[in-house]
Amino acid sequence: CGIVGYVGDAQAVKFLIEGLSKLEYRGYDSAGIAVYNNDKIRTEKSVGRLAALSEKIENDIPVGTMGIGHTRWATHGRPSDANSHPHMDCHGDFAVVHNGIIENYLALKEELMAKGHVFKSETDTEIVAHLLEEVYDGDFEAAVREVLRQIEGSYALVFMSRRDPGVLICSKQDNPLVIGLGEGENFIASDIPAIIARTRRTYILSDGEMAVVKKDSVSITNHAGEAVTKKVFEVNWNA
Ligand code: GLU
Repeated sequence: CGIVGYVGDAQAVKFLIEGLSKLEYRGYDSAGIAVYNNDKIRTEKSVGRLAALSEKIENDIPVGTMGIGHTRWATHGRPSDANSHPHMDCHGDFAVVHNGIIENYLALKEELMAKGHVFKSETDTEIVAHLLEEVYDGDFEAAVREVLRQIEGSYALVFMSRRDPGVLICSKQDNPLVIGLGEGENFIASDIPAIIARTRRTYILSDGEMAVVKKDSVSITNHAGEAVTKKVFEVNWNA
């Protein structure tokens, strides 16, 4: 339902929680974050209000300057801690947040289970993390492109890899996704209100586009891998 991402020099958690709170008006049943630090991805999730997640982490706030967050409106699998996003692969290498529905998730899940993947949730989303693990051979961008080739349905997706510090990759199909351009930091969100307190300079992603977001750069390509030149959209209204 709500998506946020941060890569820069500041502590990611601050923006993740702030951004998710700006998306609360959309309604949701659970919330979660994943933060990269020191070769590890730490996830924290909680069913219920964002305040429940904030309370859960207040005495041990995840440290790190790259992270993703999500508020979930369950479509596949009941609202629960386990079904909350971000979802990860078997080895904790990749974290994914997703809005929308992966239509062919059951077929992909069966294939992945046959290859030994063990699933922790009932969601359609979790297959995305396992599929990424399956196809990853050291090239994060190529692996995400392959995942996007195999999944069908509607999505706004953000991918984070333990093996690729400082890089977030996102893409969308039929669900909105925007990138907020900062100074030495960049933001990702499913809607402008999440980022407007940080920046008014944005890229509005179109269907089929994939963005590689680092703290000092954003590069956008289409499904074929060709570079897309995008105009900066200046938000001139107040959230
Ligand atoms: N289909 C996913 C799920 O049920 C994402 C739902 C959403 O858009 O929040 O977990």
